[in-house]
Amino acid sequence: MIAREEIAQIVQEFETDLAQAGSAEALEKIRIKYLGRKSRLSRMFAKIPSLPPREKGVLGKELNVTKQKIAAKLEEKSQQNAQAEEGMDLTFPGEKISHGGRHLLSRVLEDICTTFENLGFSVKEGAEIDDEWHNFSALNIPLEHPSRDVFDTFYLNLPAQGKGKLLLRSHTSPSQIHFMEEASPPFAIVSPGRVYRPDQVDATHSFMFHQVEGFAVSEHIRFSDLKGVLLRFAKTYFGPGVELRFRPHFFPFTEPSAEVDISCFSCAARDSDEKCSICKGSRWIEILGCGMIHPHVLSACKIDPQRYRGFAFGMGVERIAMLRYRIPDIRLFYENDVRFLEQFRS
Ligand SMILES: [Zn+2]
Repeated sequence: MIAREEIAQIVQEFETDLAQAGSAEALEKIRIKYLGRKSRLSRMFAKIPSLPPREKGVLGKELNVTKQKIAAKLEEKSQQNAQAEEGMDLTFPGEKISHGGRHLLSRVLEDICTTFENLGFSVKEGAEIDDEWHNFSALNIPLEHPSRDVFDTFYLNLPAQGKGKLLLRSHTSPSQIHFMEEASPPFAIVSPGRVYRPDQVDATHSFMFHQVEGFAVSEHIRFSDLKGVLLRFAKTYFGPGVELRFRPHFFPFTEPSAEVDISCFSCAARDSDEKCSICKGSRWIEILGCGMIHPHVLSACKIDPQRYRGFAFGMGVERIAMLRYRIPDIRLFYENDVRFLEQFRS
């Protein structure tokens, strides 16, 4: 065989062997096979002295180049194997890929809205920036009312647009006004969203929180419809054993008005004389305010109060979530501590 062909054959065999060598041991065997003293290359080196002088130099040079190439490829493969071994410890714990989830408040908000949607309500959201007319005046809240004070409402330092000064809405009731200005009865709507008040932040207060507003207007709506809707909501959301209590109250935008309590589900669940931390021993928990929409509010929205009647209610979403999931501090919702949030991942 011509020497050049033999070298080509050796290199080809070497490449095949190298590609299959997965361990340091296998590489060492290959090194011995191709570069060892008994290798074919060594035997070819040994023949050089017997060759004609003009062939000696050419073959010697070619054999040396081949030897160096093989040594370099062995070294490269050895490094690759070492790296692969480092990255391939199958007993090593996998990298944890964390996936997102919906925030508990988003879920509670959605659950509340779904409960009312199943009772025939539609969901309509409102703007967070509004004007004095929609946040106060149209809701029968007079100019001198303390809630219109700068200490109770965030006014925006912007030129007045629409009706009166611009502000961050302090409740979701402006959605009710916006909707009623445009629509003609009958309708039944829930309107969820954020509201803002300059409250000192503590375990039960925040400068921003969420409310769900609900209202329905038709020619025949009565207070008993309001009671029926709220009872169905409470039983769906807090459990079938829950009872409701209506306490007379005052709100400017409803008449008559009531605050609504549910019977304490925590007391009902256990048989102990120990004072209950949820209801403070009273056996009732306040969950929302409600009433029949005041005729002034209907008139402000160009709905004839002689012909139409309606009810409205509003509840704090954080409060509902805190009650249902036994969360002791409102600030936990906003701190974005994943250890807290992931307990409620759906
Ligand atoms: Zn209780």
